[in-house]
Amino acid sequence: MPIQFQCSTCGKPIEVDDEFAGQAVTCPYCRKVMNAPTGLVPPAVTSTTAAYSGPQVASAGPIPQFTPPAQSNWFASASLVCSIVVLLCLCLAFAGSYKVMKRMAPDLKLQQDQMPAFVEQTSKEPMLVVSSIVTLIASIAGVLFAILGLVRRTGRRWQSILSLIVCGLMLACGCLSIMSNFAAMASGKGH
Ligand SMILES: [Zn+2]
Repeated sequence: MPIQFQCSTCGKPIEVDDEFAGQAVTCPYCRKVMNAPTGLVPPAVTSTTAAYSGPQVASAGPIPQFTPPAQSNWFASASLVCSIVVLLCLCLAFAGSYKVMKRMAPDLKLQQDQMPAFVEQTSKEPMLVVSSIVTLIASIAGVLFAILGLVRRTGRRWQSILSLIVCGLMLACGCLSIMSNFAAMASGKGH
């Protein structure tokens, strides 16, 4: 169902597909960029609007079909790349931990008293050090790009939303593990 509304600058009637509801659209008459209404207007208001804008629509002739701005959302794509990097690093980190665990306990059963040694070994494993640094950088960049991508409201929004979830979760997990490491170090020094 197309949405009809008036341009806020030149007052000409504009018609867009409802998939563009709430998104930035360009007025075909004056090229002014504005947000299309969400289309969630109460029925009473809709009928008044239709009755009011009816003659204007008729006199304006056929309404030019709205075309979305061709600009691509660079930020959304960048944030998606960052979240792919984050996921790859996560696999690398798992592989690294597995390697350390295999070296310490070939049957993959770590005893409780082996845990401090395991943590120490993983902090020296180059694969894990590199992957955690890259994860940290990529997830911060991913969150920033995703926010910028959402603010621009053009292009593929799902990319930004997906990256925000992936990078945001990774960042939260990273912060939690850093905090718990510090807590462990602090309690270790206390002894
Ligand atoms: Zn206009």
